[in-house]
Formats: sequence, structure tokens, C-alpha cells
Amino acid sequence: MATVLIIEDNPHNMKLASFLLENAGHTTLQASDAQAGIALARAHRPEIILMDIQLPGMDGLAATQLIKADADLRHSKVFALTAFAMKGDEDKIRAAGCDGYIAKPFNYRTFLETIAAALPASAAADPQGE
Ligand code: MN
Repeated sequence: MATVLIIEDNPHNMKLASFLLENAGHTTLQASDAQAGIALARAHRPEIILMDIQLPGMDGLAATQLIKADADLRHSKVFALTAFAMKGDEDKIRAAGCDGYIAKPFNYRTFLETIAAALPASAAADPQGE
């Protein structure tokens, strides 16, 4: 099981992502803007950060660049949450340092498979789950 930080300003997406993750046995941390999210990352060192791209203030790509440039934070895998997963955007997401992306609206199975694939095998599945 992992600690997953969700940085997302849309309350519906936040609620859905946290529900899916907690239901799969993960612990979530939640922030609705990049500054608050980076502070939580610094305090808790999450294994995974789910990063909305369009955020109030600093956007998710700029926040990812900051995280990946910071020796204390860059170990977290960052997955962009994006509604516009087109080719040019994927290049921008990768260039910012994201480890991948998850398209919105969420496909539940793809969402959880992406999280599981980002974790060591021992942390990916809840043996009590399903
Ligand atoms: Mn947003």
C-alpha cells in the first residue's frame, strides 16, 4: 500500500480519486492547489503524486518541474491528471518531468492499474481487497 498525494482543484475529481485509492487500500493526502500540495509532499514524501494540470495559481506542469528539481521530492512518481491527453500534450507532460498521465474522466480500471504499475509488487495489491 502506498501514500498517494492528490493535487486537484475539482471537488468531484478529488472525491472520486480519493475514493478509488482508499478503497484499494492506499492512504491519500489531498490539496487543491500546487503550493499546498508541494508542502504536503515535503512533509509526507508520498510514493505517488496525482497532479491536475489546470490549477489555480501555479499550474501542474510548473509544479511538477519544481518537484523533479528538488532532491527531497523527486523520488515521488508524478502522474498528470489531464482531460486533454493528445499527442502534443503528452510531450509537454513528459517534458515537465511527469512519469505518466491518467486521462479524465477516470476509467476506474485504468486508473487503479496505473497506480499499481507504479508501485513495487509488494505494495501494489491489497491481499484483503476485492
Ligand atoms: Mn483543475
